[in-house]
This record gives sequence, structure tokens and C-alpha cells, in this order.
Amino acid sequence: GTPVTLPELDASLLTTTLTPNPRSVPAPGSPEEASQKVCTDHMIQARWTATSGWNAPSLQPYGPLSLMPTASVLHYATECFEGMKLYRGYDGKLRLFRPQLNCNRMLVSTNRIALPAFPPAELLKLIVKLCATDGPKWLPKDRPGSFLYIRPTMIASDSALGVQRPKEALLFVIMACFPPMDGSATPGGMKLLASRDDMIRAWPGGFGYAKVGANYGPSLVAQGEARAQGFDQILWLFGDHCSVTEAGASNFFVVWKTKEGKTQLVTAPLGERIILDGVTRRSVLELSRTRLEKRCGELAPIEVVERKFDMFEIEEAVREGRMIESFAAGTAFFIAPVGLINFRGKELKIPMSEGDAGAYTKVIKNWLKNIMWGKEQHEWGYVI
Ligand code: PMP
Repeated sequence: GTPVTLPELDASLLTTTLTPNPRSVPAPGSPEEASQKVCTDHMIQARWTATSGWNAPSLQPYGPLSLMPTASVLHYATECFEGMKLYRGYDGKLRLFRPQLNCNRMLVSTNRIALPAFPPAELLKLIVKLCATDGPKWLPKDRPGSFLYIRPTMIASDSALGVQRPKEALLFVIMACFPPMDGSATPGGMKLLASRDDMIRAWPGGFGYAKVGANYGPSLVAQGEARAQGFDQILWLFGDHCSVTEAGASNFFVVWKTKEGKTQLVTAPLGERIILDGVTRRSVLELSRTRLEKRCGELAPIEVVERKFDMFEIEEAVREGRMIESFAAGTAFFIAPVGLINFRGKELKIPMSEGDAGAYTKVIKNWLKNIMWGKEQHEWGYVI
């Protein structure tokens, strides 16, 4: 017969049910705010089935999901998610930061884990609707510089134990309170523990490039061990050459001088698909290419390089005094200066020329902050 076209995810069909029991916003600095358990009043939900496509999405009171114990996600990790923030600007406006990139990446992830496709622009419209509904109350105007964490998620909800492509899925979007960012900065910079050969985050042909839950659960043993030994995050290595990939759930950067005396900003490339295509990573690269490849104030020009690099090069650069600085970059912890890497028991100290960060790290972080919180008007800021 003729192929039937099933309904696409369509934000214009959104139905709205506002909560009869609005909750109070945690006070700044309170334990509830820091708990990362408090979500805003509402959530977005949309159901999909293989036979009827996407149902009309809903904005509804925040609350528990109902799933059968046989649900695919609970057994086979058929899940993916996104992480982004809603910022309350110094100009009073609410903004997202390059949210189209998160919505596109969510589609990359659903494709990798056999969850249904959707038009990324429709997901963005749903996220915007939730932000417009809860943002004004949960990010009061008198708290510029604050933010909410947004978690779009898709799970396979089929109630059948068969190992097969999901026939039912649930998309939901929630927003959670987070403590302010700079409060979590580690004095002296982050201490990273380089991963061992028996704990590998991602490998060619795997799924490290996708934001699937299956990348995170199995990393927690190594992360827990690192924390117990006084480190902040794992520096994930790959292969016999100890290639440097990512730091915790962040992309990893170094600034060093080459043996020829060139100053470079270096991060691992996306080509092997073992690295997450971070929105912060892209933004650091793009800003550095436009603003740091020429002299910038006191800062010598740098060359911006995406290439494979390894722990032996880092070790050599530290030993020869060519390491300039290092930082991790991601939505949750933003731009976090790195002060130390432990590699096979050796402590490699990374300079921080400005005391609490390197000089390049500092300017890059400030540029991004200014865009996110509306001190610089920039096309990356998406006003709600
Ligand atoms: N790498 C991994 C493994 C991550 O989970 C994240 C967080 N999404 C990042 C890097 C940083 O990505 P982004 O800048 O988009 O938050």
C-alpha cells in the first residue's frame, strides 16, 4: 500500500495545564537550591508510538512519570538527554545560549539509540514555552547572573522485555535549580586524575559522541574513586598513546607553546566520534579563532588547533616549561581552570598565571559570560 506519514512532533499543538499548587523558589544560597532536586512548577511531555507518530505535546505540572517495570529504558538504557541553561541577564532579559545546537545534538543522540526522530526546531519551541512559563518566577528579575538548568530527555517507554527498537517513547523537558556557578570553583584549579586502561569512556565505533545515558552511568566508578582520592574529575584517555579526550563531562583544552615557540590552544578533534561536540567547546573555538588569533590586549596571538594529542606531550610541555594553562569547558561547570593532572602517579602542575586561572582562560570565560548574561549583545544569545 501507500506509505503513511505519521504526525511529526508539532509544538503548535501544545496543550497547557497550569499547576494548582505552585511551589516556592529556593532562597539564594539555601540547601534546597544546592540540592539539584528542586524543579520548577511545570514540565513538557510528548508521547510517540511507532503506529501513531508524535502525539500533541503538553505543558503540565511537574510530577512523577508512570512507567511499567518492563519499560525498555529501565533495562536497555534506551535514553538520551541534553543539558542547557536559562540565564537571567544583567539587562533583565531571559536568554538561552545557542539552543539550536542542543536541539540538533539531541537528534544525533536519538538516532544513535534508536529513539524516534523529530524536527529540532519543534523541540526548541517547546523548551522556549517552558522557559517563558516558569522563567519569570524562578529567575526573579532582581537576581541577574542566576540560571536554571534545563534537561530535555527522551526515553523508550515500551512495556515489553524484548530487545528491539523501541515502539513507544516519551520526550520530556524539566528545569532544575542549581547553585551559582562561581561558588563551585575549586581553589587552585581542578585536579584531574588521568584514567587507567581498565576504565575507558568512549572508543571508535562506540557512542561517545552522543549524549546517551549509557555514557555516564559506567563512568561513575572511576569518578567516585577519583573523588575519594581528592581529585575533582577524571581526565579520560584513549588508546596505547594515552590520547587525551575529555575531562569528566566537559571538553578539555590546553594552551601551550610548541617546541618552535608558537602559542597554541589545543583540544581533541571530533573526527573519531569519541568526543562530545560540546556547545561550550565550539563556542570557545569560534571565539578564540575570531578574537585571539590576533594580539588581544596583553595576550600574545594564539593558533587554535583541533588535533589528537596525548599525555606524553603534556608531560613534556610541563617538564620543558612550555605549558601555559588548561581548562575544562561544558555547560554545567562552565569554564573551569585545571591546576593539576595526575598521570600514572606523577603530579603534573599546570600554571595559572592569574592566580585563580590562566590569562587566556579568563578572557574566554568573560566573553562567554557576557554573551550569556546579556552584557554583550551577540547572536548566540537567544532571548525568550
Ligand atoms: N563532554 C561530555 C562527555 C559532556 O557530557 C558534556 C556536557 N554536555 C560536555 C562535554 C560539554 O558539552 P556542552 O558544552 O554542550 O555542555
